[in-house]
Amino acid sequence: MKSNQFQNLNLIEPILRALTKEGYETPTSIQEAAIPIIFEGKDLLATAQTGTGKTAAFSLPILQKLYERKPDDKRNIRALVLTPTRELAQQVETSFRTYGRNLSLRTTVIVGGVSQGPQIKALKNKVDILVATPGRLLDLINQGHVHLNKVEILVLDEADRMLDMGFITDVRKIISKITSKPQTLFFSATLTDEIQYLAYDILNDPSIVTTTPSSSVTKNIEQKVLFVTQENKRDLLSDILQEESVKRALVFSRTKRLADRLMKHLLNRGISVEAIHSDKSQNARQRALAAFDRGRVKVLVGTDIVARGIDVEGISHVINYDLPEDPENYVHRIGRTARAGANGIALSFCGADEILMLKGIEKLIKQPLIEFSDHAFHSSVIAEIHKRRTAAPRISPPFGRRRNKPRATGGRRSAR
Ligand code: AMP
Repeated sequence: MKSNQFQNLNLIEPILRALTKEGYETPTSIQEAAIPIIFEGKDLLATAQTGTGKTAAFSLPILQKLYERKPDDKRNIRALVLTPTRELAQQVETSFRTYGRNLSLRTTVIVGGVSQGPQIKALKNKVDILVATPGRLLDLINQGHVHLNKVEILVLDEADRMLDMGFITDVRKIISKITSKPQTLFFSATLTDEIQYLAYDILNDPSIVTTTPSSSVTKNIEQKVLFVTQENKRDLLSDILQEESVKRALVFSRTKRLADRLMKHLLNRGISVEAIHSDKSQNARQRALAAFDRGRVKVLVGTDIVARGIDVEGISHVINYDLPEDPENYVHRIGRTARAGANGIALSFCGADEILMLKGIEKLIKQPLIEFSDHAFHSSVIAEIHKRRTAAPRISPPFGRRRNKPRATGGRRSAR
């Protein structure tokens, strides 16, 4: 076998073979830092975004530990991974299967939005690793189909999103049902006060690993802003998507209704597209994702909640049809491109009412987005407003007006 730097992390040969098959040669920094800690048996608090290789950082050592330690009762769930979204749960389970392809461990996924019958049936068989979203898992626990008395390792993946999505009570309830004392691994892209309280409630003397701060953006992403009025955004979008350089694009829209409307508009323009959001059934969501993943459709339009966790290779463009209210969502959105060292382009449409949001993003990522005006719908007025707002007020007051009285900045935001 070719030498592989994962060997230095004391991974066993069947796992190394699976990694070589995947083309992984060098561990990412979160993998280098977290894997030895997990092998040591310590609890872990890791700040890492998607796109950093965090899934392998926890799944590789979990697979190895479960493989090396034989269970006393084959039907017990030995590792439990909680994720905020169904899509992420599916992806994490696929990763376990991929990395564990040469081990005889069984993995099952439990998510809401689909019928629970097949899940209950799967739980009756041997399950070493269970990946689940909190709501459905809690349902099945309450119905007596899941027993968590032998869990050796618990993972909370994307804990900040679980908090954002209001799952924390469910997560706490699930944890209270775990009667064993598992090693707990806590992954979060951000480390707000609230997340830290939760982490220290759940974790026991954890080792802390910080890889990428939440405001960091992969260097391989070219980030551009396109100033355009709201009414021209749809035509700008279809123009861009028809360009040859756009191989596979993920488009973010702020609302579900808008995602559906954009899909119709693009279909009318002959562009192959699917939409994904939380009003769609789980099966429809999976079909859309599979069509995008396999290249049957070129474009996927989605809202933040579902599209943010998507890990599809070869997304050449992420397009922010509207800017996210929370600048951190910008970082998550554009991280869907330039995965694992590839290059990508992020295009953000900015209307007159979104300039403050743009400024928030630029402040968070500590760099301005590059203005791209070489398109048919460029609005020089919006670009000018942005330029004036960005310039230091004392040197260039907005529209030449003297600022002798402080203005209520909150008023402008709430007027949106
Ligand atoms: P994640 O942060 O877990 O969502 O992973 C992001 C992407 O990086 C996934 O597509 C993984 O398959 C890929 N990946 C993870 N670790 C490595 C590695 N060491 N080398 C190459 N690709 C990797």
